[in-house]
Amino acid sequence: MINQIKGLHHITSLASDARENNAFFTNVLGLRRIKKTVNFDAPDVYHLYYGDETGSPGTVMTYFPFPNAGRGRNGVGEVGRTSFSIPTGSSQAWLDRFAAFQVNGVSTDVRFGKKRVLFEGPDGDLFALVESDDERAPWTGNGVSDAMAIRGFHSADMRLRDGSASTELLRFMGYEKQETEGNISRFVVPDGNEANAIDIEVMPGAQYAAQGAGSVHHIAFAVENRARQLEVREALLDTGYQVTPVIDRDYFYAIYFRTPGGVLFEVATNEPGFDRDEDTAHLGEALKLPSQHEHLRARLESLLEPLA
Ligand code: ZN
Repeated sequence: MINQIKGLHHITSLASDARENNAFFTNVLGLRRIKKTVNFDAPDVYHLYYGDETGSPGTVMTYFPFPNAGRGRNGVGEVGRTSFSIPTGSSQAWLDRFAAFQVNGVSTDVRFGKKRVLFEGPDGDLFALVESDDERAPWTGNGVSDAMAIRGFHSADMRLRDGSASTELLRFMGYEKQETEGNISRFVVPDGNEANAIDIEVMPGAQYAAQGAGSVHHIAFAVENRARQLEVREALLDTGYQVTPVIDRDYFYAIYFRTPGGVLFEVATNEPGFDRDEDTAHLGEALKLPSQHEHLRARLESLLEPLA
């Protein structure tokens, strides 16, 4: 078992419309756009990052908006729902806000004793707000007060036909089973960054997911620095996982590996962070390109639709 993983780092999903995506995450959810860059592997497409003031690990939702992408189909072998934490007692304020913005798929329930507001993003992306005591300082604005603002990720749901191999993997990554309710088991990493939980939902007969707009592409786990990342990489390789080399993503270093249930995992460093090429006061405003794509700037600036 390893102990370098400290919770989620970011979650990356697919979208069909950059402007709609940007408007939803900033105006409706009240997150801060902390980086506007491109998909390093397909620079014709934006890579948009939303989070708290500085894009702290454990708060960062990111999107690849592929114009006119077809919608994904929910199923097993994917992260089915992403959950953010909100202050205890703030569900009603969110229900009122979602009604005002005509957000789709809104309902409420209780999981592991915590109230949740379920809702959908612009591409049918499945989300929840979970009431929890979370000390992280939120980004506020756009009509979202400190009393209701999102604190960061609460958890992610992995939907699987068979949860045993992924359970074993999470335990290896330092997660401990906390509770089980029906077909859902919650795993929590101790001493994490507050984005500490992964729920495994076992759905034996369900169809496999098909990735498209609204689907989670991968989830990334946080490690403090590159040295810790190399330790994790070695440990995963020793256990038989096929892990990519370390890839420089400008704002963090990344390694990727496919889990037994089909979900793509990444391990990302907390260093160097999103303020490495922009002042904190102006994060997310300018189009930032990695050095290998800087020569494409003129073409990309005319191709990518302007965002508010
Ligand atoms: Zn990633």
